[in-house]
Amino acid sequence: MKLFEYQSASLLSEYGIPVPHGEIARDPATAAEIIGRHGGTGVLKAQVLTGGRGKAGGVKLIRVGDDALKAATAILGMTIKENPVNALYVTEMTEIKKEYYISVVVDRNAKCSQLIFSSAGGMEIEEIAATAPEKIGRHPIDPFTGLDEASLRRTFETSFETGMLAYQALAIARNVYRLFKEKDCSLVEINPLALTAEGTLVALDAKIVIDDNALALRPELEVFRNPEEYSRDEIDARTASLSFVSLGGRIGCIVNGAGLAMATSDLIKYYGEEPANFLDIGGSSNSRKVVHALTILMRNPQVSAILMNIFGGITRCDDIAKGVIMAKESLDIRVPFVIRLIGTNDELGRRILGDQGLEAYTDLNEAIKKVISEAKRVSP
Ligand code: GDP
Ligand code: MN
Repeated sequence: MKLFEYQSASLLSEYGIPVPHGEIARDPATAAEIIGRHGGTGVLKAQVLTGGRGKAGGVKLIRVGDDALKAATAILGMTIKENPVNALYVTEMTEIKKEYYISVVVDRNAKCSQLIFSSAGGMEIEEIAATAPEKIGRHPIDPFTGLDEASLRRTFETSFETGMLAYQALAIARNVYRLFKEKDCSLVEINPLALTAEGTLVALDAKIVIDDNALALRPELEVFRNPEEYSRDEIDARTASLSFVSLGGRIGCIVNGAGLAMATSDLIKYYGEEPANFLDIGGSSNSRKVVHALTILMRNPQVSAILMNIFGGITRCDDIAKGVIMAKESLDIRVPFVIRLIGTNDELGRRILGDQGLEAYTDLNEAIKKVISEAKRVSP
């Protein structure tokens, strides 16, 4: 789950990390009014769930005399990497002496979390990571003992001009890691961590990603969920307790179990086609889920045939069959629909389908070959 900058900033602040004061504006007049209240200066920042806003023109410094209304209108009319700008975070202006970078991230290759620090923070950090990786320090974190403070202290003492700043940086690093751990994040990033004219460190931009799998344990984080992050299909799927991911091919898939769903995607690719989606209806027997799943798939104009692959364990094939019948009665299933049904109560399920003139395969390879030939027949 991705957080907007203003949401991330509120979490940083809750963890004792200094951030500039800011307010949200959803229209240009409100943004201009906030700037006016702060003596005609401030920063207008597009709130989108992607980085690189500065380079795209989505961050504008407003100084006395600048037309805040015009700038706010321009940014609110922008689309940054396909994300329409619907809100501005209007912050007080900070005078920057130098920009640093600090983050804690799950590093899947290193199989641990890492604190990443660089004295070359700011908008060019991606280029620096690519061209001068030695400028970016990676500090692996032991999950049992936490941050290696001795090593971090040495890094900060060489990176900052004074012991006081190194001490501040260490306090920020500690709080970033505490936030990362306590809120089950996969990323907490501050870029830039700015050294201000007053000689203090401030988090001028923040990016937080929370591990979706932890949300069940952390209901207090639900308030940060943003509908902008999800497609309509993904929202409907979650409401219906289905795991759904769009994949872009033309073979629609409805499967019970995540592992079987992955294996089904692999086999479709093996036979030369592309799955339209990953969809796991879960292990329980619930006819309604079949109806919800088919409803979502039928909205995708790219789907030219559907494969339903059920291996009944806890899932009962007769419940699935009833769901298929319900779906056929309530929906217009306009593409070929191939069913593979095996496991608990499969004979009963097959009979229910057979009564309605529907055939179900037992062999998965046969079912996949069939659904692919049907897709090719419908749209060669
Ligand atoms: P990003 O491009 O999406 O990472 O957006 P940022 O929030 O990091 O802003 C981009 C750049 O704008 C920063 O790297 C800063 O150089 C600059 N910037 C942001 N806020 C301020 C501010 O308060 N004062 C000054 N002088 N520059 C700022
Ligand atoms: Mn930034």
